Amino acid sequence: MIGSLQSIDLPMRRFREYEEVDYAIVGVGSAGGVLLQRLARAGFNVVGLEAGPFWDTERDWVSDEAGSHELYWTEPRVTGGSDPLALGANNCGKGVGGGSVHWAAFTPRLHPSDFEVYTRDGVGADWPITYEDIKPYYEQLELEMPVAGPAYYPWGHPHGYAYGPHPMGGVGDALIKGCTALNIPVSIGGPVAILSGSHGDRPHCIYRGFCIQGCKVGAKASTLVTHVPDALKKGAEIRDLCMVSRVELGQNGRVTGVHYYDIDGHTHFQRAKAVILSGYAIETPRLLLNSACPGFEHGLANSSGTVGRYLMAQAGNVVMGRFDQPVRMYKAPPAHALTEEFYETNPENDFARGFAIQTVGPLPVAFGKQMIAAKKAWGWGLRREMMDYNHWAAFGLLGEILPWKDNRVTLSEDKDRFGLPVAHVSFHLHENDKRLIKAAKEKTEAVMHAAGATEVVQEARYAHLVGACRMGADPRTSVVDKFGRTHDIANLFVCDGSVFPTQGSANPGLTIQALAARTADYLITQGDKIFTSNERDMASAPIRRELAPPETWGKGVPRLK
Ligand SMILES: Cc1cc2nc3c(=O)[nH]c(=O)nc-3n(C[C@H](O)[C@H](O)[C@H](O)COP(=O)(O)OP(=O)(O)OC[C@H]3O[C@@H](n4cnc5c(N)ncnc54)[C@H](O)[C@@H]3O)c2cc1C
Ligand code: SF4
Repeated sequence: MIGSLQSIDLPMRRFREYEEVDYAIVGVGSAGGVLLQRLARAGFNVVGLEAGPFWDTERDWVSDEAGSHELYWTEPRVTGGSDPLALGANNCGKGVGGGSVHWAAFTPRLHPSDFEVYTRDGVGADWPITYEDIKPYYEQLELEMPVAGPAYYPWGHPHGYAYGPHPMGGVGDALIKGCTALNIPVSIGGPVAILSGSHGDRPHCIYRGFCIQGCKVGAKASTLVTHVPDALKKGAEIRDLCMVSRVELGQNGRVTGVHYYDIDGHTHFQRAKAVILSGYAIETPRLLLNSACPGFEHGLANSSGTVGRYLMAQAGNVVMGRFDQPVRMYKAPPAHALTEEFYETNPENDFARGFAIQTVGPLPVAFGKQMIAAKKAWGWGLRREMMDYNHWAAFGLLGEILPWKDNRVTLSEDKDRFGLPVAHVSFHLHENDKRLIKAAKEKTEAVMHAAGATEVVQEARYAHLVGACRMGADPRTSVVDKFGRTHDIANLFVCDGSVFPTQGSANPGLTIQALAARTADYLITQGDKIFTSNERDMASAPIRRELAPPETWGKGVPRLK
């Protein structure tokens, strides 16, 4: 039984351990939650194995910044390279809903150009799909979350949103003021997967700003509240606090299930006709590498040597400005206004691709950390800065870092509490990335000054890890095909942010969920063939809107088709 918000009052189905299920999904996060729901609704026997807890939104979440620490994957990881990434609360979630529980819920789409970066700009890679392939899924997921935003969104492929935009908070006001002064178009009130009106059994936002702490209200979309309830109603099982340690390969070259540890450290094996990895851009390659076995000494699905490679993070510098008048940046969702005016490659720049500028609204603890980083504030100096919190606004830049072969996840010699080698993440900025970040930082600072800030400082950081098991048409240079099926093993799939070949400067969550719904449609159309045949049907499947959670049927007020 789970909390009142999800309104689920039926016992969850439990498969017996010796039963062979149709699909075992590793990780019930942004992608895993959508997959689980679609496959259960289509009638498959499906188990989601999740390393973190099954959150009860009423009981487990607190309106307290420090109290939200448990939402994150804070298990040990090793970071390295010339520009090491901070790992922990800055990247993935742990628990049912995964990163969608603590995301800020900005939901821009990728642009059509993102799918052909190599062809257009001679850098990065092309995707094996086009914008047209994913567009119906963007439209569908924007209804399922649903996304609030303007009636006309001008960048990429212009479109509108079903739910109206949110009112502005102080940071949004500052972004509008700065952009308007510099003649930069800005999107107001979204796109963000936060309710601007009630939807199904979920109420609208109350603007308290605790989105990154796991919205207790239920106004912010997470798969925990959007897809998991329907998955359970339709017979899916979620086994929480279960850490998958290895994917088992059978003698016929097909996987047979997954080994996992329960909360007490006991080992189990879940048999499955097919396995889908949805564990995030670090844990998915780690699991493939940890599943090495005779004949696959370098990890499963790694004949290309690409597992773990081409890991990407977006540049996520936070630019903070002090204003004479109070801003009170806690009084709104952090995500509520942005500009994508600098998203595309501009021949006048000395770099390829581009960046976005967005509102962010750090709460006091995060703000304190940023002041330590940006101003080396400490002791009484830090107290003074924190007492001044209400006068500060923060913008985040989101810059496209290209996929590089040497940015990668490998296995460390360090072990976790189960004795499994932990991920070693190695990251280096290349010349294009450095130039892009410099330009993005200067532009964001210029906007902050133009908004009227009297002091502007910044903290360098990164956001949103994707890649490391990329999709592609060529099995020699990619891990999965355009549906997420590994090139090497016919009944092993990857479905999460790790399949991105490039990342644009849009936040990745919407694309991750759209790809999950697309993979599910493919699996459903293929039916039992996935379980028995090694042949690959590369024809795209029709979109199955009727498999959406029923809350989206006839609800909401679509304003643009
Ligand atoms: C502070 C913050 C704000 C963000 N804001 C935004 C935003 O505004 N918009 C946006 O688009 N994105 C945002 N993101 C990014 C977004 O949350 C992630 O990109 C997205 O959730 C990744 O989805 P995923 O399916 O790849 O992995 P996840 O959602 O992280 O799911 C992976 C799940 O797998 C589980 N798992 C991993 N390994 C195992 C294993 N071996 N066994 C069992 N379970 C396992 C994990 O516990 C986790 O629950 C934000 C991220 C952070 C940190
Ligand atoms: S601001 Fe809105 S979406 Fe964010 S936590 Fe509060 S109610 Fe939830």
